[in-house]
Amino acid sequence: MGRTKTVGIAGRFGPRYGSSVRKKWNSIMVRKYQLYYCPFCGLRVRMKRVSVGIWSCSKCGRVFAGDAYQPTSKF
Ligand SMILES: [Zn+2]
Repeated sequence: MGRTKTVGIAGRFGPRYGSSVRKKWNSIMVRKYQLYYCPFCGLRVRMKRVSVGIWSCSKCGRVFAGDAYQPTSKF
């Protein structure tokens, strides 16, 4: 699994799919792996995406609705 300067972890795709697609995919994945504050326990944790817009806190396990690719934009 490769990493590259421009597209980050999207470097795993190699030269496929075109660079704009890979850059877009990378920005989505970076937001997905970011740490967010849980609205319930207040801790900064990695949210698990259960489904599109459905997120679960890895600490308290509570499930809440957010954006499709990031837990929430309200903070
Ligand atoms: Zn929590």
